[in-house]
Amino acid sequence: MNRGGAVSAFDAVSLANAPTHALRAYDPGHDLPALRRRFGHDLVELGSNENPLGPSPLALEAARAALGDVLRYPDPQGTALKAALARHHGVRATQIVLGNGSHELLMLIAQCFTDAHTSVVYSRFGFAVFPIAAAAAGARAIRVPALPPCHAGMPRGHDLDTLAAAITLDTRIVFLANPNNPTGTWFDDAAFAAFMERVPSTTLVVVDEAYAEYVTVPGLTSALRCLPEHPNLIVTRTFSKAHALAGLRVGYAISSPSVVAVIERLRESFNVNLVALAAAEAALGDRERIAAARAWNHAEREWLTARLRERGLRVLPSQTNFVLIDFGRDAAPIEHALFERAVIVRPMGGYGLPDCLRVSVGSRKDNERFLDALA
Ligand SMILES: *Cc1c(COP(=O)(O)O)cnc(C)c1O
Repeated sequence: MNRGGAVSAFDAVSLANAPTHALRAYDPGHDLPALRRRFGHDLVELGSNENPLGPSPLALEAARAALGDVLRYPDPQGTALKAALARHHGVRATQIVLGNGSHELLMLIAQCFTDAHTSVVYSRFGFAVFPIAAAAAGARAIRVPALPPCHAGMPRGHDLDTLAAAITLDTRIVFLANPNNPTGTWFDDAAFAAFMERVPSTTLVVVDEAYAEYVTVPGLTSALRCLPEHPNLIVTRTFSKAHALAGLRVGYAISSPSVVAVIERLRESFNVNLVALAAAEAALGDRERIAAARAWNHAEREWLTARLRERGLRVLPSQTNFVLIDFGRDAAPIEHALFERAVIVRPMGGYGLPDCLRVSVGSRKDNERFLDALA
């Protein structure tokens, strides 16, 4: 009601709950839809770690077929996709929860297991969603230092010792990404198994394995190997990266049945749409496609890294489909100059890495366009 004719100052923020006060809306950076309209195929998109090879033709065919059923709600249990994932990973379907992208699952996990009386531990230069998930749940976020920039093996990577030491009695979640975004760095199976031995069973360990399908280094398979002994472990995966279905939004988490049952309490019943369910199942079945994407990405990433290092640039080691370049000076003017040449890369100021740019491994043509523009 507008009393006395004065325009009352309506302030929705003052009505928002406490956790929301600490949040800011997602900053998309550049307006990509507008840039695509302006530049068409001349736009070089290396900012979002998408797979330039595109999805399996079988996934596209399944998606098209599923369109005929869109008058129906999707299967709220995602039964067929979960059965395929269970077979693929050698787990039971009751150990899997599906998400509208793995981002949704990271948020849900924090909502289910943390609140204002508990804390979340994560690493500096860890995936940006981790502190957001903690903040949205109102949990105390404990950010621990990363390995130093001069570290011989994994500069700026996760320091598992420091992370384990930061866990307190009220810590409900440790968030890790392996390999990590935006650094590209990783830790191996043996280091992770040793870490798990140090974590109390009252703390959940979430390992975000969004880039797992790209890994080629020996000694790193998956945190899933620790699941039989550690019911407090949650592994998240996504169809957005190597499977090249980012636009359909499908991710999943694998844990013990009791953890999954808790997450199911808060999960929206139809969170994964039926086109996405069908496409993801078909993509998972196309093993040759994933193997080819892994091999191609490995070769192309090594090629791109070699070209950059030839120019004297510092490139962090990576097991992902992107590289982090440390220019040793403010990278904003470089990012701007690339943008002027219709080459989109990811600035890292928000991560506290203003000297760095993250560049996805694109098609050879796009990588060459990037290298030319950089010169
Ligand atoms: C890209 C990415 C994801 C994927 O998120 P979706 O919501 O599944 O698209 C998750 N974690 C990390 C570390 C990523 O880089």
